[in-house]
Amino acid sequence: PTKPYDSENIFAKILRGEMPCNKVYEDDHALAFHDINPQAPVHILVIPKGEYVSWDDFSAKASDAEMAGYVRAIGHVAREQGLVVRGFRLLSNVGRNGGQEVPHLHVHLFGGGPLGPMLA
Ligand code: 5GP
Repeated sequence: PTKPYDSENIFAKILRGEMPCNKVYEDDHALAFHDINPQAPVHILVIPKGEYVSWDDFSAKASDAEMAGYVRAIGHVAREQGLVVRGFRLLSNVGRNGGQEVPHLHVHLFGGGPLGPMLA
């Protein structure tokens, strides 16, 4: 069961401009910024602007336009940040077992060097 959205989560504050971030991209549907604790040479988070707790919540409730906008933004950031040429990784943690810490949907983009088999 997905918890109700908590509008005081850290990414909600970043979206409202109440918390700073190191922004790499923004459009109508998505915001991308560098992870504060990078786990790869390049570690970017891409979040939708809508209030979705996780991938589960988003895939169940988001409109087609929100879904398309978010997926396109992720692809755009990966290309724009130069991650595509040598390869990169997409990851989204969902819920407690998935190790999700921030309850606003985010996709991690890891790249900029060899990544090894998995990232926690
Ligand atoms: P999760 O475990 O929820 O998938 O990942 C949350 C990610 O958000 C972690 O990689 C963590 O380093 C990052 N993070 C947490 N708080 C902040 C913050 O205030 N700013 C930024 N840029 N990243 C954050």
